[in-house]
Amino acid sequence: MTANQVRLQAIKGVEATVPPAYSFDPGEEPGQIFGENVFSLNAMQKRLPKSVYKSVVSTIEKSTPLDPDVADAVASAMKDWAMEKGATHYAHVFYPLTGLTAEKHDSFLDPVGDGTAFASFSGKTLIQGEPDASSFPNGGLRNTFEARGYTGWDVMSPAYVLENPNGNTLCIPTIFISMTGEALDHKTPVLRSQQAMSAQAKRVLRLFGHDDPDNVVAYCGPEQEYFLVDSHFFTARPDLLNAGRTLFGAKPPKGQEFDDHYFGAIPERVLGFMMDTERELFKLGIPAKTRHNEVAPGQFEVAPMFERANEASDHQQLLMTTFKSVARKHGMECLFHEKPFDGVNGSGKHVNFSLGNAELGSLLVPGDNPHDNAQFLVFCAAVVRAVHQYGGLLRSSVASAGNDHRLGANEAPPAIISIFLGDQLADVFDQIAKGGATHSKEKGTLTIGVDTLPNLSKDPGDRNRTSPFAFTGNRFEFRAPGSNQTVAGPMVVLNTIMAEALDHAATYLEEAVAAGTDFNEAVQALLTEIVTDHGKVIFNGNGYSEEWPVEAEQRGLKNLRTTVDALPELITPEALELFAKYDVFSDREMHSRYEIGLEQYVLSISVEANLTLEMGTTIVLPAAVRYQTELATNVSALKAAGVEADLADLEAVSVPLAALRAGLKELAAAVAHDHPEDAMEAATFCRDSVIPAMAAVREAADTLEGVVADDLWSLPTYQEMLYLL
Ligand code: ADP
Ligand code: MG
Repeated sequence: MTANQVRLQAIKGVEATVPPAYSFDPGEEPGQIFGENVFSLNAMQKRLPKSVYKSVVSTIEKSTPLDPDVADAVASAMKDWAMEKGATHYAHVFYPLTGLTAEKHDSFLDPVGDGTAFASFSGKTLIQGEPDASSFPNGGLRNTFEARGYTGWDVMSPAYVLENPNGNTLCIPTIFISMTGEALDHKTPVLRSQQAMSAQAKRVLRLFGHDDPDNVVAYCGPEQEYFLVDSHFFTARPDLLNAGRTLFGAKPPKGQEFDDHYFGAIPERVLGFMMDTERELFKLGIPAKTRHNEVAPGQFEVAPMFERANEASDHQQLLMTTFKSVARKHGMECLFHEKPFDGVNGSGKHVNFSLGNAELGSLLVPGDNPHDNAQFLVFCAAVVRAVHQYGGLLRSSVASAGNDHRLGANEAPPAIISIFLGDQLADVFDQIAKGGATHSKEKGTLTIGVDTLPNLSKDPGDRNRTSPFAFTGNRFEFRAPGSNQTVAGPMVVLNTIMAEALDHAATYLEEAVAAGTDFNEAVQALLTEIVTDHGKVIFNGNGYSEEWPVEAEQRGLKNLRTTVDALPELITPEALELFAKYDVFSDREMHSRYEIGLEQYVLSISVEANLTLEMGTTIVLPAAVRYQTELATNVSALKAAGVEADLADLEAVSVPLAALRAGLKELAAAVAHDHPEDAMEAATFCRDSVIPAMAAVREAADTLEGVVADDLWSLPTYQEMLYLL
């Protein structure tokens, strides 16, 4: 029996895996299953009395308060619908600040004294729940005397039935707040910030002649990257199992362009998984488009169609849960960690973002005439102002231990938040800065309209993959979010900073018009002001270049490399004022988020440090010692036989082994070190002492992986995990 038995068995297991048959009914019409398990407006219309239905629509569309009688009627129809779909339980689903999805399940059945039970579900239970909140992070928001948390039905996000072999559950998306009304979750601030942004956007639209505009909503289309690993390998790696990423592992001999016979086996198995996930997502009303991604071996991407940010964010969480469970059905594990494999491309979640409504479409599309262009340029300039002024907040919205591997490292996008506009728009803004844009570069024609603004073409223009915030023709793409993160965080910041920038624009224009300035001239002056003050954030060059950080510093742009650098952005006086002004977060809520961000960081690093220590001590060290002993025995045997022994092999093990021992000692000391009370001090200690100690252990271990005899190595290698699917 050799030590690599675990690995060999895992490999045999992979080879023997038969993917489950695809549960597709050939008679099924394409699209037939879409939204099948969703209590959609359509389903409501069929089941609710007209007046009740109208009232719900008005709550959704016009934000009118919900009538308790209406809630009772909806609850009753929802329960009947769900029970017809096999639901026995219902759950309030909420999004605590761990970043995960939480659920509180209850049965529909209420036992009545005489041994029978009634299925019941009232408006009150639909609207409000009270989960045991004490186990969720609150950053000091809940004192022991007010330990309760409440969930509240989010009428805007439809309820759905989640299937499970053991029974189905009616899931109701909810907000999660403390007894004193403070947000303990990711959803509440999305709703608040959406409202704030809409109010300011409507002011701007009115100035452009839209007398009574509908609510403006933020749209979000998240592109999700992920890795798939065979379950056999996953379970043989304590680090993947417990930390979601490998803490050890030498880079594969061949890089990401690897291409051999294993590769041919990937598509079929993965395709089966993709079709299955697509089907599950369709049932839940999630408009997913799946496809292969060629960046790294074992890495793929799914991009659902964009939706309102609130729904997109709920759907995105549901997508991750669905991917994980479907992957398990297919004998694989879906990894959402930002950097599961060192030296291999990490995973992000690009947030495509725009503003608009059904009536006006996206407000970030240049229209057909100069007047529309002027409106577009004001919205676009607002983005420039917002991102320049609050780039640090955007950075903090994607700060986590996992994402630090992407943002702070030599992997795109950089931790410096800049905007890519493309040649045409950058040129227009350049001209505006110089006093007025008169022509549009691509067309080369002078299109001097009433507005002294150019006629813009709708071409998206070039792509720049190195920019963290890029204009892509009808939207901006924020590329910094990590694959494991909720899109709610970035969306809250985007909505709020856009509210501020649009407020600024509206106020500027309203005042100018009131003072008798010609509207077009006022627009021109506003654009010039914004470009002059905030144009520094526009960068069309290569964000990965060595020169950029230097230039960015000269421009005064922040380079917040780590979570510890980024989180204090949440509690600057400017940030506190901003969020309070638009009623998105109180000071207390901001401080709690700051604390929780640090706590989560310390928690992840501590888990990884303990695992590194354990695996280094119990897996890597013994393998290296055994091999060293084997070589030493060989040396003495040779000596005894009078043969000259070459000590080079022994040395090749002994040197990194000594480094491993020293590293483990240092790491043990760092792990044993008492965490400072203060969250910032604890996080800083993790960053400056624990992480370097982990890195030293890993370096020695990875060297040993290349030296120690293969039959003594029990951890599945990068090669195996990445290429055997
Ligand atoms: P690419 O790889 O070119 O960036 P993808 O097709 O992978 O594009 O993803 C684009 C994402 O952007 C999709 O989720 C799509 O629905 C979304 N999207 C498209 N238009 C908009 C828009 N106006 N607002 C927000 N998201 C959008
Ligand atoms: Mg993209």
